[in-house]
Amino acid sequence: MARRIAHKEKVSALGEFGLIDRVRKLVGNPASAICGIGDDAAVLPLDPKKYLLLTADMLTEGVHFTNKTSGEAIGRKAIASSISDIAAMGGLPRYAVVSIGLKPSTSWAKVEAIYRGMRKIAKKFGTGIVGGDTVRHAKLVINVAMIGEVGKKHLVRRNGARPGDQIFVTGGLGRSLAGERHLRFIPRVDQAQYLVSRFKPNAMIDISDGLVADLGHILAQSRTGAVLEEASIPLNKGARLKDALYDGEDFELLFTMAKSKSWRLQNQRKGKFMFHRIGEVTKRRGIQLMTPAGRLKKAVIKGYTHF
Ligand SMILES: [Mg+2]
Repeated sequence: MARRIAHKEKVSALGEFGLIDRVRKLVGNPASAICGIGDDAAVLPLDPKKYLLLTADMLTEGVHFTNKTSGEAIGRKAIASSISDIAAMGGLPRYAVVSIGLKPSTSWAKVEAIYRGMRKIAKKFGTGIVGGDTVRHAKLVINVAMIGEVGKKHLVRRNGARPGDQIFVTGGLGRSLAGERHLRFIPRVDQAQYLVSRFKPNAMIDISDGLVADLGHILAQSRTGAVLEEASIPLNKGARLKDALYDGEDFELLFTMAKSKSWRLQNQRKGKFMFHRIGEVTKRRGIQLMTPAGRLKKAVIKGYTHF
């Protein structure tokens, strides 16, 4: 009986994370995987010094772009989102296969623009598009599967945050969808390479679901909590604090690092990079917000959810 009720549940009731959690339990992880479902990319054996990274991202009309978004911007975003996931593991993107679902009425000019957008950003980050599939579909949908590689000593996962770690982001947050930043963002590969080669963060993720939600993913896997300092959170133009906390698709990197190393990074411009310290990892679970007056309040853990 319980089972029959469970089968009637809708994915909208489970939510994106509830759904991922159930899928993870259902498929399990192969014994050879260093890390399976539940990080920005899967981590797989490659050679004595490196791991293979594998990620997939699907974009669909009406959720990740509108029917007014230019083909070039759609293609660019499809590839850039996957590059961002590879960067969040400390890796470099290598190859992608692209599957696309098209309405039969789609013009060749639009398809050409989509692939042009993909090729441009892929080339910029040293990634090659090497295959894929095309199908008929009611709405434009694009899936990018990408492989990357990471030096074993440079791998950063979500589960390494420790109490006392300082929390950083690589740039301004909020109103990415409203301001169309989600179509123009630059995947933070260079920042990630700088970080893993000189600082070795303990945990890292790219912000796709929102600051609070994605910090929540790090904290859940690290079995820790955090205090976020409201006054330290960098805001995008026109964004309010709540936009920075809960809007999705910023594609900045969020990472934590031992306090002893963090002073070298703290709010200093490092060449062309800027790293903003926004809080601290705590033993106490949950996320607390510290107001500019120094008062602590509990953050509601919610985020941009794709269902
Ligand atoms: Mg991600």
